[in-house]
Amino acid sequence: MKITNAEFVISAVGPDQYPEDALPEIALAGRSNVGKSSMINRMINRKNLARTSSTPGKTQHLNYYRINDEVYFVDFPGYGYAKVSKSQREVWGKMIEKYLLERETLQLVLLVIDLRHPPSKDDELMYDWLKHYDLPVCVVATKADKIPKSRWQKHLKIIKEALVMRAGDQIIMFSSEEGMGRDELWAHISRFAFP
Ligand code: GDP
Repeated sequence: MKITNAEFVISAVGPDQYPEDALPEIALAGRSNVGKSSMINRMINRKNLARTSSTPGKTQHLNYYRINDEVYFVDFPGYGYAKVSKSQREVWGKMIEKYLLERETLQLVLLVIDLRHPPSKDDELMYDWLKHYDLPVCVVATKADKIPKSRWQKHLKIIKEALVMRAGDQIIMFSSEEGMGRDELWAHISRFAFP
């Protein structure tokens, strides 16, 4: 995908701030520090548009990025950060749930996971939650450059089995460092955003 234009649009706290131009939306979920901002930056060829290591306490915002004026990336706040209070967690849950339930322009959710490690309990819950709403999910297994190629397949298998991934959901290996997986992921996103 050739990126001609990518811009940060809004850090939205609720539906009345979501864009109204009805472009397809691709949501991104993952635990904090998994590499989600780096992945967004790599996908849109910008070094710093999505702030890497953004403050983990900011649980209540959905960050909207408009790409080529034809699709949005909607970045969920990272989950699983230990210092987030129970009440903040509840705010997070309610906001995401409302978005998942009501956002008709949502086409696909990217669940970003660290290829090096088995999914966390939160990752498993997130995947189950998304499937509960019958949403198509693409698991992006990032930081692939951090383990040797000879172990990739084994790690993919562990992730697929731990999440009990449904037939039809894809897993794509990714490296924000090296760009691996970028073209494959854009091709996959395009199938959902521009069917
Ligand atoms: P976020 O909290 O999920 O947005 O995570 P960040 O994008 O801020 O990444 C967390 C840390 O992991 C940073 O130090 C990144 O440089 C590093 N990182 C992210 N993706 C990759 C990757 O694909 N390869 C390597 N080697 N490091 C990565």
